[in-house]
Amino acid sequence: MKNKLLLRTNILLCTILIVGFVSSSIIIYQYNIDAFRKDTEQIANLTSESIYYQGKSYFAEYISVSKAMANNSMLKRFLEEETENLDVNFLKQIQNHLNAYKKQYNYASAYLVSTDTDRYYHFSGRYRTLTRGDPDNAWYYTLLGSKEEYSFDSGKDKYEGEMYFVDCKIRDNSGKVMGVIGVGFKIDHLHELMPNYHEEYDLGVLLISGKSIDESYDKEYAESFRNFKYLNVSMIKSIIEETGEGSKSFWGSGQQRNGFVVARYIPDLKYYLIIENDMAKLWESFYRQLIIGISVTSLIALAILVIFNKVILSYNERLLKVVVSQEMEYHNLLHGTIKKLYMAIYEFDITNNRAFGEGTRRDLELLGINNSFNYQEAIKSIAEKYVKKEFRKDFLTATSQKSLLNAYDKGIREISHVCMMNTHWEDYHWVRIQVQLFYYSSDKSVHMIVFSQDINDEKKRESRLLNMAETDPLTGLYNKSATREHICSALEQTEKGDVCAFVITDIDYFKSVNDTFGHATGDRVIKDFADRLKKQFRNMDICGRVGGDEFIVLIRDISGNDWLVDKIKKLSDSLRWEISGTEHESNTTRTISASIGVARYPQDGKDFDTLYKNADAALYKAKGNGRNGFIIHDS
Ligand code: GH3
Ligand code: MG
Repeated sequence: MKNKLLLRTNILLCTILIVGFVSSSIIIYQYNIDAFRKDTEQIANLTSESIYYQGKSYFAEYISVSKAMANNSMLKRFLEEETENLDVNFLKQIQNHLNAYKKQYNYASAYLVSTDTDRYYHFSGRYRTLTRGDPDNAWYYTLLGSKEEYSFDSGKDKYEGEMYFVDCKIRDNSGKVMGVIGVGFKIDHLHELMPNYHEEYDLGVLLISGKSIDESYDKEYAESFRNFKYLNVSMIKSIIEETGEGSKSFWGSGQQRNGFVVARYIPDLKYYLIIENDMAKLWESFYRQLIIGISVTSLIALAILVIFNKVILSYNERLLKVVVSQEMEYHNLLHGTIKKLYMAIYEFDITNNRAFGEGTRRDLELLGINNSFNYQEAIKSIAEKYVKKEFRKDFLTATSQKSLLNAYDKGIREISHVCMMNTHWEDYHWVRIQVQLFYYSSDKSVHMIVFSQDINDEKKRESRLLNMAETDPLTGLYNKSATREHICSALEQTEKGDVCAFVITDIDYFKSVNDTFGHATGDRVIKDFADRLKKQFRNMDICGRVGGDEFIVLIRDISGNDWLVDKIKKLSDSLRWEISGTEHESNTTRTISASIGVARYPQDGKDFDTLYKNADAALYKAKGNGRNGFIIHDS
């Protein structure tokens, strides 16, 4: 039970920690994902901007250099001195001049065209004449026809491959166009920047010519493709188509949704700049943080659980000790008090006729009752061994299995029985046996708990009080009301054929005894009279003082009239004696005598009042006959 509670608390604690961790992770995740996406977009966009403007700045540089070349007086002189027939020396000079430029600015190519001859001089020393209508020469004629001072073009050089060309018009002093100076350059150094971006920002960067898209660029850009996480040739193709001459940025979809792509057309270069930035690295660091977080949280949770369990267990242990000691103290106190109140407490399973519980069996064995497995037998043994003989029958009836089950069926739950037993004493003591009946639903049986209590002192006190209430203090005989009560109950208990005698006796001329000898002597006479009266009868006969000098006796079970007459005669004799005292300074003696009236049960009356009336009438007659005698009522 305790372990279950602890387990439940641990699970609850773990759940709180896990829920706390998961919810904080979700919040961090939500926050991070937005930040990651923004970062990813910004890095890609900034890189795209940076490369775009770098490209533009290249062109600005080439254009300004071309313009400067167009104003070079040397070049102008060459064009002025150009003749129909080409002189080898002249050609050599132009070649040197162009080469010097090429070298100085690190161009891939440098060339000069004369508008007079349409002759094209190349830094390599080669020359040719351009003709209108040749598509390869269109750049030259287009520039001549336009108002622009320079033009810009890209194309493939037979020897150098993909190149960019800036062509600039050369004017003479009068402003007439006398030729065109052109430089060719490669954008390899722009391409060379790409790996740097890859290394530094983990970006996939590709600068790809829109023109060469259909031509074996797979091979050409294989190296660049390696930097892409998921863009492939066909995807790039469709991106270029969709971008046109603008720019486009989007997040990848499907499995690639963590990649951000920026595609931008660079009009000067006629190139597409494609940047792919994926969040894999950011995710990687996020997951690493997550794993560290989980590990740290787990460790903290474990530490909390260990500390919590230790604290709870030690607290429980201390609490248990306190509770147990309190419980023991309470138990001992209760036990001591119960022991004082009750001699023994037993439990019996009445339905199954057996003692219940080890405690009851042990206590019964201590009393020498070894057949405690059978309730009826055990009760019989207790009755025989310990219950006073005259109480046995009632004891067995009150405690029989049958009467207890009957009582339970009638709804009685408490039974009290009083008898005399000697379980713990040499003499018999009054014992109150209290029974509590209840039902055990677990085994569907009626049980009883028995408490036995020594009430001997209580009983003694009770009987003392009763005696005091019933006794005439002067004579020790029953007083008037007790005499009446005891005689009534004796008459009720008589059986058929029983004959009793109801006797009333009164001291003759008692008033004068008081008058002559004083009240104290009168009292002593009453006391002596009572003793003499009592001596004439058995314990079972009922003697009482019902008036100042008037007494009643119920003689139970008289044998017959003669016996009665004889008995009353003897009584009359025994109540006659002499007393002596001092009167007027001379010793005086005086004879005490009594008059007696008798009525018989049942012939002279069956109840107290009738018997009293008839006996009193007989007494009255006896007084009338001169006293000191008796009359038996004759109905
Ligand atoms: P009789 O022969 O007709 O009975 O005459 P008697 O004088 O005995 O008259 P009665 O029985 O009527 O009087 C009883 C007297 O007993 C009256 C009263 O003064 C006296 N007496 C009653 N109780 C006590 C008592 O407790 N002590 C004493 N000393 N006298 C008592
Ligand atoms: Mg009298």
